[in-house]
Amino acid sequence: MNNVEPLFARDLDDFERILQAEKRMLRTRLKEMRTGSDEARAAIHDGQVSDTKDESSFKQLSDTYMAETARLIVELAKVDVALTRVATGSYGTCERCGRDIGLERLTSQPTADRCLPCQMLRESQRAKK
Ligand SMILES: [Zn+2]
Repeated sequence: MNNVEPLFARDLDDFERILQAEKRMLRTRLKEMRTGSDEARAAIHDGQVSDTKDESSFKQLSDTYMAETARLIVELAKVDVALTRVATGSYGTCERCGRDIGLERLTSQPTADRCLPCQMLRESQRAKK
């Protein structure tokens, strides 16, 4: 049972545009995160942050920036993989079973590299570990 809608050439063009836009957005956010975390660090360093309570909140802020940066880098890598798949013509097919991932799933998650059944299988295997 795999009654998902396959992709057409025009859909592929749309997804390529979506992915390119996503990539630009992620890059901009990454830049913002770097600037933000630099500022937080600089504030601690320059002694602008006077008491330890402030310092810990700035450190926390810096940690948040780092976690967010890490998340953005992972997202960016996924977008790059998806764009490569567009270029090689394998975009929209499941990397595990080779079936169509389906328009609906790709619309909600353009970087998806597996069909829903395979993704669910992966997640249930992960949960067991
Ligand atoms: Zn699959």
